[in-house]
Amino acid sequence: MSRVAVVGGGIIGLSIAAELLRRGADVTVYDPAPDGADGAWHVAAGMLAPGGESAFEYPHLTRLLEAGHELWPEFVAGLGDVGYDRAGTLSLALTADDVAEAAREWKHQKLTPLTGSQVRDLEPGISPRVRAGAFAAEEHQVDPRRVVAALRERLTGRVVTRRVADLSDVEGDAVVVAAGHHTGGLTGLPVRPVKGQVLRLRGEPGLLRHVIDGAADGRHVYLVPRADGEIVVGATQEERGDRQPTAGGVHDLLRAALDLVPGLADHELSEVTVGHRPGTPDNAPILGFLDDDRRVVVAAGHFRNGILLAPITARLIADLVVTGSADPILDAFAPGRFR
Ligand SMILES: Cc1cc2nc3c(=O)[nH]c(=O)nc-3n(C[C@H](O)[C@H](O)[C@H](O)COP(=O)(O)OP(=O)(O)OC[C@H]3O[C@@H](n4cnc5c(N)ncnc54)[C@H](O)[C@@H]3O)c2cc1C
Repeated sequence: MSRVAVVGGGIIGLSIAAELLRRGADVTVYDPAPDGADGAWHVAAGMLAPGGESAFEYPHLTRLLEAGHELWPEFVAGLGDVGYDRAGTLSLALTADDVAEAAREWKHQKLTPLTGSQVRDLEPGISPRVRAGAFAAEEHQVDPRRVVAALRERLTGRVVTRRVADLSDVEGDAVVVAAGHHTGGLTGLPVRPVKGQVLRLRGEPGLLRHVIDGAADGRHVYLVPRADGEIVVGATQEERGDRQPTAGGVHDLLRAALDLVPGLADHELSEVTVGHRPGTPDNAPILGFLDDDRRVVVAAGHFRNGILLAPITARLIADLVVTGSADPILDAFAPGRFR
């Protein structure tokens, strides 16, 4: 088995590297900031939501998201406790307008609407002002920081702290480019940063059991409760590449969060972070050989779903590197669609 260089030690690069290592490859991962200072994974909430995220995307992406979702139990089985939680997601709508908008989404996802009091039976911390909701049992969560830590442990001694400026400087029989939103600069492919502001609150565990995905007066927010009392509150979506949190962004997230779950007012605001989703023109990932010499493989552009898609990306890209032939599911995601 050959030597493989992986450029980017985010959740995608590390998942691929760990899978290649498992199959006997001699893998080296390059990343200038493996602690996450520049990785979307470090900010991401970790919702594993193939339905909620894909609702109106194109069918190839829906199929990939669903296939990715199915691999999670097997993927985490080898990683130890990484906060994988299958309690499910409660979608909430505060006002009549929020209900009207959410109802379309619930119908699309074939979810049964719940009244406000049914929602509060499931989650007593939810505001009495919330009018309606729906329960998505198949939308789970994981803690991306713990996944990355577990993957890095598997790859001990194989992660080199280095920014790759030019792919021709990287040694290896195969080079996998998984540099998140920086992939554009390395490959010429149209991968752009889409800014997201995220908050982390901290309090007594138990205020929330489920992931909450809600709308409050037109403001969208999700709340992802971890077992240790952390609650991730996300996220803005802005077509910008800067790293500044803003007063308006933080205000909108907090306001929607407190409108839906008033008890959060007593929580500590422990982190305000900014990350960049790797977006593409069709918001689907780019997976496959960069060009005809078939040395460089691209695995990037996972936009809002890179945590969900990490296990399936690892499997498909490892197959490609090892066998040289692509699974047909990859046809719709080839880099060539942007040339
Ligand atoms: C606010 C927010 C919330 C999100 N929530 C979710 C969610 O709930 N569920 C979900 O599935 N997805 C979510 N995502 C999306 C997910 O985080 C990304 O799709 C995923 O992290 C992409 O993984 P990646 O490894 O390609 O990129 P990243 O995680 O960004 O990692 C890229 C890595 O490449 C390294 N790198 C960059 N340039 C170079 C270079 N020149 N040389 C070497 N290394 C380099 C970086 O240092 C970084 O470590 C969210 C994203 C954001 C921003």
